[in-house]
Amino acid sequence: MLEQLSPQSPDALLALIKLYADDDRSDKIDLGVGVYRTDDGDTPVFAAIKNAERRLVEEQDSKSYLGPEGDMGFVNSLMPIIFGRDPAVGGRIEGMQTPGGTGAVRLAAALAQKAGATRIHMGVPSWPNHAQIFADLGMEVASFSHAADDGTADLDAVLSAIKGATALDAVLLHGCCHNPTGIDYTLEQWDAIAAALAESGALPIIDTAYQGLGQGLEEDVEGMRRVLAAVPQALIAYSCDKNFGMYRDRVGALYAMMRTPDRMAPVMSNLAALARASWSMPPDHGAAAVRIILRDEVLTREWRAELDSMRERLRQVRRALDKAGKAGSVDLKPVGRGHGMFAMLPVSKEQVQALREKHGVYMAGSGRINVAGLTMSNVGKFVGALADVTG
Ligand code: PMP
Repeated sequence: MLEQLSPQSPDALLALIKLYADDDRSDKIDLGVGVYRTDDGDTPVFAAIKNAERRLVEEQDSKSYLGPEGDMGFVNSLMPIIFGRDPAVGGRIEGMQTPGGTGAVRLAAALAQKAGATRIHMGVPSWPNHAQIFADLGMEVASFSHAADDGTADLDAVLSAIKGATALDAVLLHGCCHNPTGIDYTLEQWDAIAAALAESGALPIIDTAYQGLGQGLEEDVEGMRRVLAAVPQALIAYSCDKNFGMYRDRVGALYAMMRTPDRMAPVMSNLAALARASWSMPPDHGAAAVRIILRDEVLTREWRAELDSMRERLRQVRRALDKAGKAGSVDLKPVGRGHGMFAMLPVSKEQVQALREKHGVYMAGSGRINVAGLTMSNVGKFVGALADVTG
């Protein structure tokens, strides 16, 4: 039976990692895989995490099972950071831990499907796994264009998608630091989106995987909070894998907001049942470390400072690209205006290949770059290489 299977194409970014590792040029630049890097090109464990992990090793007295909801101390400690203390949403949001943001997105879509949704609207381009997850669940993806030609978010496209959605459709939105474009909605645009969602009755699923890496912890979720203040119900998929640097430990959560607190129990019990049938329960270690940080003022301060310095470094690189202005045919100004780790460059597959072969600059064939792969010492070389292959 298994010989019936046809091979699937390997993950292009993982193949790129291997090509990069095999390149022995000392000035090569990796703009491929989506992890944060320091000025030295490293992806270190946060000091706050190391401290929390030490405490965890000392204090943990059992590794007995938790339930499908995971570590509720973690889930609840994150809530004020994500949702603030807005009374409009108070008592109407509950969550559970998931294996990373990926698990949260999957669980959100599975819940929507169980509640009757067959179609999900989504801006493109998007994180490639969004479409894969929805297709795997058998949901229809209706796509609209995320970005307009001028490098800003295409408000008309998202509004017309929402207006065309029924109360049995879901709408996926990126909370901040859009992957792959780095183009976020402005607050005025979020207000218009919130009003349209409130009117349409479609279910918003807000994927928030980069809080704190764009404009600030509060700023990055302000748009999402405005949607939550306007709509009766929503799902929020959250990842700590970037803003706590936990990638392989798979730290995430899914939150549901209902019209009134008394409508919450059936939603949470369905989420628990779906989680049990998928992964039974999420991995504990990373979430426990995040909980320890968030329950300790000193560790929280240490974590915030580390996150601030990551964000500042990303902004510094974007400012340098903005200042460069143009590289060959590529206008870098929109990259300068973007938020978070990613940007899309208007380059062809051939130009991407030439960047790699001629200059040792590695990036996805789609034109996405990980801004964190650039530093103040290699950004000049990158701009020069880009000018060379597109000029
Ligand atoms: N959503 C988006 C938009 C992402 O970019 C990512 C990670 N690349 C995720 C979700 C999933 O994050 P995690 O690694 O926590 O599964």
